[in-house]
Amino acid sequence: MGSLENQKPENGFNCTIKPLDPEEFRRQGHMVIDFLADYYKNVEKYPVRSQVEPGYLRRRLPESAPQDPEPIEEILQDVQKDIVPGITHWQSPNYFAYFPSSGSIAGFLGEMLSTGFNVVGFNWMSSPAATELESIMMDWLGKMLKLPNEFLFSGGGGGVLQGTTCEAILCTIVAARDQMLKKIGRENINKLVVYGSDQTHSAVQKAAQIAGINPNNFRAVSTTKANAFGLTAEALRSTIEADVEAGLVPLFLCATIGTTSSTAVDQLSPLCDVANEYGVWVHVDAAYAGSACICPEFRHFLDGVENAHSFSFNAHKWFFTTLDCCCLWVKDPSALVKALSTYPEYLRNKASETKQVVDYKDWQITLSRRFRSLKLWLVLRSYGVANLRKFLRSHVKMAKNFEGLIGMDKRFEVVVPRNFATVCFRISPIEIGKNLNVTKDEATNEFNSKLLESINESGKIYMTHAVIGGVYVMRFAVGASLTENRHVHLAWKVVQEHANALLKMS
Ligand SMILES: *Cc1c(COP(=O)(O)O)cnc(C)c1O
Repeated sequence: MGSLENQKPENGFNCTIKPLDPEEFRRQGHMVIDFLADYYKNVEKYPVRSQVEPGYLRRRLPESAPQDPEPIEEILQDVQKDIVPGITHWQSPNYFAYFPSSGSIAGFLGEMLSTGFNVVGFNWMSSPAATELESIMMDWLGKMLKLPNEFLFSGGGGGVLQGTTCEAILCTIVAARDQMLKKIGRENINKLVVYGSDQTHSAVQKAAQIAGINPNNFRAVSTTKANAFGLTAEALRSTIEADVEAGLVPLFLCATIGTTSSTAVDQLSPLCDVANEYGVWVHVDAAYAGSACICPEFRHFLDGVENAHSFSFNAHKWFFTTLDCCCLWVKDPSALVKALSTYPEYLRNKASETKQVVDYKDWQITLSRRFRSLKLWLVLRSYGVANLRKFLRSHVKMAKNFEGLIGMDKRFEVVVPRNFATVCFRISPIEIGKNLNVTKDEATNEFNSKLLESINESGKIYMTHAVIGGVYVMRFAVGASLTENRHVHLAWKVVQEHANALLKMS
């Protein structure tokens, strides 16, 4: 006491700060919650896509860290002044870009609890509740999705929470790779082939690369508009046959339910038939659309999953759970464990030795892991299956409404059929031909890209694009939790206004 106490820096802040003082935690914690509540209340006032220039923040912040403590009041003021302008507001009701990330109170509170406990749950012993709740949540969710019993713990399979889909796919590729190399010899790694379609997420190619698959052996099988940009069994078969003929070894197929560009769906049953014939591991990537499959009317998209080896979806995408939370199920956890397990002396413990517990460190890349299942527990209990379905259906309905609005303006067209809550549309070539005296595809694409940029620059709404089969489309993805029908109508007005202006100019 005394001497330290007297050494107050100029701002009058006390030097004897305790980093986890419970009463200070209460005081400052409430301030942050109030800050965020105000943020959500006012989020519509900000331009949806951040309008800052690269390097904006370095110009605003000091060159080095402060020596002396600064009060939370001041820090929060700076968050408002310096950080908020550089945020693209994913929680805005006018956010329709990429796939939105659906925040929720329950997801947030789960995150808070998880962060508050701050446990490092690499094995069962390091926090039994973290492991056990995760296994139970994965079974709950698996049942909601009507996954076959083989994917649940009771059926010999099991689920694990990964950070992201990229990690989930890497883990399954590595499991498949080691299983196959055990059969054919490690010297044959260069022969392994990984399959997807030209619509498959880049995560698969990246995972294959990291897993040491020969870069020449990644097949992005072509899709066509005639097949709604789904991978067909025929195309897969002929690609596999050519590889077998060339002496290569088919290893892994990623089938997608709800592709990132256009939410296209690969038909699982026929694809699994072909893959299984050749001993290929099938992973089903339903990162976005998996959520919708808890609704009976969407579950048919998963038909055939019983013949796949692994399945994943992102609860942090369209399931009201904060980033990160990717749910992965496998039928054969031992394949994952064989590829990813290590057991150093400092982690040895009785529980692991009994083999009666799950040590999730062996199901993932990293050792340390967060207590993510609390988020899911909070979301599932706070809303219940009935409300979750209601939320998802309301997003689908809003997307349908947007589609209806497009249909009433002959200048626009929906480019691919809508499966879920994402609409891919553009100004039609005919309209652009009328105005530009050209009907070239490039002119149409360029015009739509200009239109999208002018819309996004306005800050009123935010959408992103995709190029599907050579066609540039604007993607209207409903899924932000604050979005209501009025925002969808407003968004359509914004699109029309910018189209009017741009068509007049051309
Ligand atoms: C978003 C998405 C991914 C990537 O998800 P991450 O969790 O960011 O790795 C993969 N596949 C599909 C189909 C996606 O939509």
